[in-house]
Amino acid sequence: MKQMTCAQMGGPCNTIITGNTAEEMAKNGGKHLMEDHPEMAERMKNMPKEESDKWMADFQKKFDATPEM
Ligand SMILES: [Zn+2]
Repeated sequence: MKQMTCAQMGGPCNTIITGNTAEEMAKNGGKHLMEDHPEMAERMKNMPKEESDKWMADFQKKFDATPEM
């Protein structure tokens, strides 16, 4: 399992997000956004596909660079 902070994922706080895969962590990050930063979750939801694909590609790289716990 890996962990990243909300801030490392582009969010505004330091809550720890965990996941076994980039997809899982993105999903957990999304859940955290909806609970703690709903306005940001809304923005992510309305993001053009192109932009969210780019975010996911960047996030995948960051996830790969993060060491296993
Ligand atoms: Zn947060």
